Amino acid sequence: MSDAETRRIVLASRPEGEPRPEDFLLETAPLPEPGPGEILLRTLWLSLDPYMRGRMNAGKSYAKPVEIGAVMEGGTVSVVERSNHDGYRPGEMVLGMTGWQTHAVSDGTGLRKLDPAAAPVQTALGILGMPGMTAYTGLLNIGQPKPVETLVVAAASGAVGATVGQIAKLKGCRTVGIAGGPEKCRFLLDELGFDAAVDHRAPDLPERLAETCPDGIDIYFENVGGEVWNAVFPLLNDFARIPVCGRIANYSDTAPPPGPDRTVQLMGTILTKRLRIQGFIVRDFASQAGDFRRDMSAWLKEGRIRYREDVVEGLERAPEAFMGLLKGRNFGKLLVKVS
Ligand code: NDP
Repeated sequence: MSDAETRRIVLASRPEGEPRPEDFLLETAPLPEPGPGEILLRTLWLSLDPYMRGRMNAGKSYAKPVEIGAVMEGGTVSVVERSNHDGYRPGEMVLGMTGWQTHAVSDGTGLRKLDPAAAPVQTALGILGMPGMTAYTGLLNIGQPKPVETLVVAAASGAVGATVGQIAKLKGCRTVGIAGGPEKCRFLLDELGFDAAVDHRAPDLPERLAETCPDGIDIYFENVGGEVWNAVFPLLNDFARIPVCGRIANYSDTAPPPGPDRTVQLMGTILTKRLRIQGFIVRDFASQAGDFRRDMSAWLKEGRIRYREDVVEGLERAPEAFMGLLKGRNFGKLLVKVS
């Protein structure tokens, strides 16, 4: 890439099922010029997140799809390269939603300045950003953790799950993490202080989860769906709370799962066990951003919360890394170091 060029990854086609490399296209274009009141941003970090799979589909959801030929959506940390805007100076760092590209022009709308002295800037995309806030708000508002209760979370070594488990532990819960493979399970126990870890890729998940939760499950923070949900469901206690955050096991499904319709059993159990199941999108709790940043910054400073990043170098590797995320190949918050 020359200094006068920008690169970007656009949506080339809508996937049927799992995304494929040909659904993405890397394009080169002349470097955009900031107009009056605008700034030129150079992307340092791009966040890759499971919600991006939903943006690749047509149709109505809680957010608009990415159009064919448009830049893939994504959270970024960027540096101001040039400024025609009174509020920004070259060299300042900002958090934004500028997408899968090396540069972007902005009038400042939706940007938040970052202080590199306060925390590594890429944490604004992870533990101090959207995934951290998802864990904090979903768990505290809906999960309502109390001492000695049993909390179960899946995708537990990932950006959201790792944070859910650690906050629940701070609130006095017994924490059980479900993760894919022995290395991720060891990490939960040795590095994050979970009380127990269960590998969902090993056989007999329902039996092993039941043995690990002898007192049942009081809070199940749902990140996954699929077979993990099937194993959790019979173990839920009366008055269990289930923040429904994500269903990554189902994001690329093209048809309902085979087998009988279990809606009647589900509704019956919700009634008899008085379950509280609530879906949420992190922005529902936007008014709690200040509380979140205050508490999480303090926990990090005190060493009470830890985080892990999985860094991929180079924008051109974003599609491969994103497809890996949907298969559990990431180990920690997935980030692309763009420049
Ligand atoms: P992660 O960093 O946890 O990465 C995704 C992980 O999901 C993979 O590493 C893998 O972990 C696990 N996974 C993938 N497929 C399966 C499967 N079939 N069965 C079990 N586990 C699977 O991602 P995030 O922390 O960013 O996101 C976690 C969840 O939170 C997602 O569902 C996401 O959509 C949701 N989310 C929701 C938000 C909201 O506002 N509601 C906001 C942010 C995230 P492993 O190898 O351990 O299986």
